[in-house]
Amino acid sequence: MTINQLTIHEAHRLLKSKQVSSVELTKVYLERIHQVEPKVCAFVTVTDELALRQAQKADELIASGDVNPLTGVPALIKDNMCTKGIRTTCSSKMLENLVPPYDATVVEKLNGCGAVIIGKANMDEFAMGSSTENSALFPTHNPWDLSRVPGGSSGGSAAAVAAGETIFALGSDTGGSIRQPAGFCSVVGLKPTYGRVSRYGLVAFASSLDQIGPLTQDVTDCALVLNAIAGYDSRDSTSVPSPTPDYTRCLTADLNGLRIGVPREYFVEGMQAEVETAIKTAINKLEELGAGVEWEVSLPHTPYALAVYYIIAPSEASANLARYDGVKYGFSYQADSMWEALEKTRQYGFGAEVKRRIMLGTYALSAGYYDAYYLKAQKVRTLIRQEFDQAFEKFDALITPTSPTVPFKLGEKVDDPLQMYLSDVCTLPINIAGLPAISIPAGFAEGLPIGMQIIGKPFSEETLLKIAYAYEQATDWHKRRPAIE
Ligand code: GLN
Repeated sequence: MTINQLTIHEAHRLLKSKQVSSVELTKVYLERIHQVEPKVCAFVTVTDELALRQAQKADELIASGDVNPLTGVPALIKDNMCTKGIRTTCSSKMLENLVPPYDATVVEKLNGCGAVIIGKANMDEFAMGSSTENSALFPTHNPWDLSRVPGGSSGGSAAAVAAGETIFALGSDTGGSIRQPAGFCSVVGLKPTYGRVSRYGLVAFASSLDQIGPLTQDVTDCALVLNAIAGYDSRDSTSVPSPTPDYTRCLTADLNGLRIGVPREYFVEGMQAEVETAIKTAINKLEELGAGVEWEVSLPHTPYALAVYYIIAPSEASANLARYDGVKYGFSYQADSMWEALEKTRQYGFGAEVKRRIMLGTYALSAGYYDAYYLKAQKVRTLIRQEFDQAFEKFDALITPTSPTVPFKLGEKVDDPLQMYLSDVCTLPINIAGLPAISIPAGFAEGLPIGMQIIGKPFSEETLLKIAYAYEQATDWHKRRPAIE
């Protein structure tokens, strides 16, 4: 075990028994960042001074016996979550110099646990994308193969965890942005049920789909981070006022009695054969571990999810992004006329993909098209949700690949938005239905990671973690680390 490959629970053990201090641990991670960041490019901001100050405070907490599993543990935050006094860019020129005056609830909660924030992670601009190439700052590279994408939009978060630059990270998931990069970088990524984690202080992309979640090295860590960030928040009106369990309690390797369905529509045409084989092998493993598996489940509305998503998400985005007018905050183009200032602020402040989404969204919401597009999409959204509800009368969980392929090459899909959108076919339906889903490492094809997605009914995070944990105990994919070269 080298010290820059510690999980949260391993670090906690060392910190608690005072074999290592948080300051020492933080220095090791800052050094690692210094060493690999020129190649991986996962950080927008490294908060070294703050981290060392927080580490010192964590050491004082530990000395006084006030230890939480996250106390003194380095954490990386996706750059669309507000951090008081720390630049929060959304990887956009629009917010390049924005320093929020407050913390997002999740950040407040991590601070409350005594976690050490070592930086802000690169992402696709305003979380729109699947490869982190839409970052207006620079692309992030996949630590498993630097010529490939880490996935997106939480590519910086996933790459940094895989590269050992942080012990864990937070990401956000609107259509797959935690799970897809987790799959591409061979880490664990959980998108909780809509409403489980507060969105207060998360820069809005598509508010009815956005959800924050953990990216970690293993399932135990995922449960520990979820424990820290889940729960009701009166500042988010969609936050659900129900108590949260201790998510580590469900981590038992016993799957007897669990019923798993395998929806055939997720094994899509054009899918890479090695991915299909790896996921089917993984499902066989779950069967061996005691789960009952039904292989031929059908969710016939699945193929419409992509179209529904690309009406609803841009519609909400076009409304959410209307606030960037050069007056209230962010980039501001100076011109004599108000209209010119507004136009040029948006022209120069937003990148191509963001503009594409705003145009799609305003079109779908405009009078005359609203019924045909937006309203229709909302109706199909209901059908998709109902179909999942029916499936969950019979099954505790559904299993699919996280993505149809292994990580693709940087540049391969940048000029073909539709191909890029297709890399999320397996993850989008879950946000449309508001469900929880986790991606866990499930194999490799020629050295490139493959992720398995486990989907559950609303608020069944414990079931997902249980299945993920049992699989993890029986395999060692999660223990492999990339050699960065
Ligand atoms: N890749 C999808 C998109 O571009 C999902 C992004 C996300 O989950 N934030 O919209």
